[in-house]
Amino acid sequence: MRRKIVAFLAVLVASVSVGVWLVQSCCIKNAFVAAASKDPSSVTVHYIDVGQGDSIFIDTQDTDVLIDGGPTTAGSTVLDYLDSLSITRIHLMIATHVHEDHIGGLIAVLNSVTNVDEILINNQAYTSKAYTDFMSLAQSHTIIVAQRGQTFILSETANLTVFNPTQPLEFTSVNDNSIVVKLRVGNTSFLFTGDAEADAEQSMLDAGLDLQSDILKVGHHGSRYATTQPFLDRVAPSYAIISAGEDNPYDHPHQETIQKLLAEGVTVYGTFHSGTIIASSDGTSVIFQDSPQPIPEFQSSIILLVFMMATLLAVIVYRRKHLVQ
Ligand SMILES: [Zn+2]
Repeated sequence: MRRKIVAFLAVLVASVSVGVWLVQSCCIKNAFVAAASKDPSSVTVHYIDVGQGDSIFIDTQDTDVLIDGGPTTAGSTVLDYLDSLSITRIHLMIATHVHEDHIGGLIAVLNSVTNVDEILINNQAYTSKAYTDFMSLAQSHTIIVAQRGQTFILSETANLTVFNPTQPLEFTSVNDNSIVVKLRVGNTSFLFTGDAEADAEQSMLDAGLDLQSDILKVGHHGSRYATTQPFLDRVAPSYAIISAGEDNPYDHPHQETIQKLLAEGVTVYGTFHSGTIIASSDGTSVIFQDSPQPIPEFQSSIILLVFMMATLLAVIVYRRKHLVQ
């Protein structure tokens, strides 16, 4: 009898292990590792882990771009990161919108020895200490007001187009006035959405913009108020990156958003899950460095599968036992 129990437990543990392995391997099927391309014309995009906020550094052969700097407390993180890449000049700084979790860290960059040539802002009137500090530092640089349709040539193979906002600003919502830009590198593309939500997404859809992109930086840290289905259908990304802090007070990213992306077969990465995420494009394909771990389906679905397998196994063993007797 004891031998049967041991055998049953062994089979159960083996089945559970296989079940968990199957689920996990299905979830990470799209993850792949590759070394950074050495091609000088390649472009590398760094989704810097700044906790709850956004900061993205685009490294091209000729021109470097910094989109947002995370919250004020992440200023030194961004500076250290740029320093680790030996970056001393930002050709284009983009402040997507006035919120502190985007412009706060830019203050440290503007206060540092890093040279900043041009600063793209959406020109929203706003009162906060962070925004006032940011704008007073920005005044000594070339300020450009973002407008749908502007294009910045970054290198021979890369350019950046502004998709949002329109001027004068279309929305009262600070988030919906976020600067949204599409980076094209050869035949590959990246979409950066700031904290744009449903209304801004609808505006971009109505404008008939070429939204399709290989990698989507998910709007507003994965909030349920962004990434509407029509927008997601049009962007049709292969990969999505959510920039959010672990255990943040907004519960970002919201599960609805993750499920929506996973249901479309999108591989989802998160800075709260993998830290800084780095993607490179050689103009033909996109590769990720350091093998970030995709965000899995609900953990509960794994538990449910394991429970179902264990129940099935118990039924089989019970039936076999009774047939033998
Ligand atoms: Zn934000």
